[in-house]
Amino acid sequence: MVFFRKKTEALTLRFYGDPVLRKKAKPVVAVTPELCAFAEQMVDTMYDSRGVGLAAPQVGKSLRLIVLDTAPPKGDLPPDASPGEILLTPRMPLALLNPEVIAVSKEKDVASEGCLSVPKIFADVERPAFVVLRATLLDGEKVEVECGGLLARCVLHEIDHLDGVLFPDRLAKADFSEVAEEVAELEAQTKASLKTKKG
Ligand SMILES: [Zn+2]
Repeated sequence: MVFFRKKTEALTLRFYGDPVLRKKAKPVVAVTPELCAFAEQMVDTMYDSRGVGLAAPQVGKSLRLIVLDTAPPKGDLPPDASPGEILLTPRMPLALLNPEVIAVSKEKDVASEGCLSVPKIFADVERPAFVVLRATLLDGEKVEVECGGLLARCVLHEIDHLDGVLFPDRLAKADFSEVAEEVAELEAQTKASLKTKKG
């Protein structure tokens, strides 16, 4: 990533209720200059919104591309950091093409999650604690590595976006009922604003 580069134009976030978030995204077939520029725009949009990850469908492009930056604010990884965190954290912000989780741990982990497409709503989500991630980086390098911690959670959350799954879908029934009203309100708001745009 180039330092001091000019900031790109921010992309428009899509919100819960927008049909693009429910589509299964298409694989990336070629790394073009346009794709690299789009990934940079996604990174800027993610930082502007203070997110740690962003998937292309969240900015209206149904493509298997995610960006993430789960680096700890002070830069130091915990001593028990996973191989994936050790390999990938120094290279963040990172764009992953066609990311897949090819194995998950039996061990689960529960943590509070939010989503730029589901603003101001947070809830505990149970996910596998460790995953084996397979993906291609923008420079063509292929990685296959075990990830834990926030990186594992972020990868699972973002890959869900590529399959049309949003974190409220992952909530236990009791936890979902606590946010159901807010989610329904957001969905109605999004649908109303999409209708207005269409005229
Ligand atoms: Zn999200």
